[in-house]
Parts: sequence; structure tokens; C-alpha cells
Amino acid sequence: MNAPGYKTGYISIVGRPNVGKSTLLNHLIKQKISITSRKAQTTRHRIHGILTDAQSQFIFVDTPGFQTRHRSQLNQVMNRVVLQSMQDVDVVVFVVEAGRFGREDEQVLEQLPRNLPVVLVINKIDLLPDKLQLLPFMQKMADVFEFSAIVPVSALQNRQLSALIEAIRQHLPENPFLFAEDEITDRSERFLAAELLREKVFRQIGEEVPYSVSVVIEQFTVEGNLRRIYACILVERENQKAIIIGKQGKKLKDMATQARKDMEMLFGSKVYLEVWVKVKSGWADDITALKSLGYE
Ligand code: GDP
Ligand code: MG
Repeated sequence: MNAPGYKTGYISIVGRPNVGKSTLLNHLIKQKISITSRKAQTTRHRIHGILTDAQSQFIFVDTPGFQTRHRSQLNQVMNRVVLQSMQDVDVVVFVVEAGRFGREDEQVLEQLPRNLPVVLVINKIDLLPDKLQLLPFMQKMADVFEFSAIVPVSALQNRQLSALIEAIRQHLPENPFLFAEDEITDRSERFLAAELLREKVFRQIGEEVPYSVSVVIEQFTVEGNLRRIYACILVERENQKAIIIGKQGKKLKDMATQARKDMEMLFGSKVYLEVWVKVKSGWADDITALKSLGYE
């Protein structure tokens, strides 16, 4: 299948936390596979989302974002993953928020590769009170780096996403498709189930629990049209466990119910979900635990 004219390539989406990378990826591939949250840094893994159209296959890599405040082992591993994710791709998409370019954005900009096409996405244009502000901002950004294209979008409202697709397509190499056309992600359902549950934990728990929560799927079986999933939420301390479980287990039950509904939608089947909470002290600084969780 070496049809001439076919383009296939890897695209890395980078940017500081909260600029809308996961939202952009989800809307580009029209399926919720990468988790989003108002809180920063809920995405800890590289996720491949794949968009296939008539001529091209876009293989997206979502990144956890650069962390600049904390210096635990986990953050270092995450930063390394981000840097690596820019090395083995064909195009880098750098996301910023319309009208905002701060120190954290600059730190990501400094890491951008000089030997690859970098497309700048100016996201959240729907939040701009005055569209006239866009032009000077685009000009300012054009002055700080040699972008191969600058595309203002609203990921949330699906605006200008096809313009972005075309800007990326220009830089994809001619290659046959690497994935089957109906494949949305190369991550296993097991992994996606864990991400969906972890997203619910972040949404429900607010500021009480730091970014030290992890989800492990202990068992995942398919029985006809039923997926039976046993999941474990790992936290660092006893009091975090109590917070997650809530009064009479209500919080945990709500999270599990929401996660189960999302899983049923994503997998197109019934889901039986059981969730436990376990204390695993100090795992964020334990490189062995990181390895076993698949970060390296
Ligand atoms: P990430 O940390 O870069 O992956 O950012 P997320 O995708 O998790 O998005 C962070 C927040 O920004 C979420 O609350 C999104 O709903 C919101 N967001 C993302 N894109 C847009 C957009 O185009 N417009 C608006 N108004 N909000 C957006
Ligand atoms: Mg994200």
C-alpha cells in the first residue's frame, strides 16, 4: 500500500498546562480519548490520537506540559517525556492562549526544536472580547519564533480546526498509512479506562488532593457485551484516601458512576466497574513505582 500522495506523520502538541492541548486533540479526532480538566497537569502520559482522512493520517501525541514549580522525580520524568515527544515527530504544534504569552509559555518556546516545522496555535479566540486584539498578538508571536504557520482557533467551539489540519498536512512526509483507518488510538482500552477514572478524581476533589493520584486497572475482562473492570486509585496518604471516599462513600460512588458512563460511551458496551482506594506512600518520588506505572 505505497500509494503516492498519501501523507502520514507524527505531530506533537506542546504548550504550558491549561492552554487547551487535550481539548484540541479531542476535538481534532472527535472522540474523548485524552482527558481534560480545569486543573493543570492532569495528563501524565503520551497519548496517540489518530485522525485519518482521504489523503492523510495524522498521529497526534499529547504531552503533559512543562512543569516549572515542583521538582519531584515525577516532574522530571514528565519533562523528559515532553522533550522526547518533540524529537521523534514530523511536526510540532505549539499551543498558546489568545492574548496571553507569559513566562511559562516562554519556557516551552525555548525548548521548541529548530529543525522541525512548528505550527503555532492561538487557542481560545472565543474568549477574546475584541477580535481586533488578535492581529497585534499574531504579529508579536511571529516576532519571537519562526513558525511555519500561525492558526488562531477555538478548540472548544471547533472553530478553524480545518485550517489547522491543512497547515499541519503541508508538513507531513509522504508515507503510507501506519494504522487501520478506523483506529482512533493505539492505547489499550485498559489505559483509557484508567484515564477516564483519573479525570473524575481530579474534577471531584478540587484542591484537597495534590497531583499525586494515580489509577491502576487491576483487572479488565471482556464478557460478550460487558466489560468488567476492577480499578484502584492510589494516593499518598491516609487523609487523602478519606477525602476521595467521602462521607459514606458518596464521592467515590459519584466518581465511579461518572467514569462508568464515559467508559460505556467510549467502548460502546456495558461496563461493570469496581473502584478501590489504596495508600501507596511516596510514590511520586519513587522511580521504581514510576516505572511500574509505565512512565518510562
Ligand atoms: P491542557 O492542560 O493544555 O491539556 O488543557 P485542557 O485541554 O485540559 O483545557 C484546559 C481548560 O481550557 C479546560 O477547562 C477547557 O475546557 C478549556 N478550553 C480549551 N480550549 C478552549 C477554547 O477554545 N475556548 C475556551 N473558552 N476554553 C477552552
Ligand atoms: Mg492536557
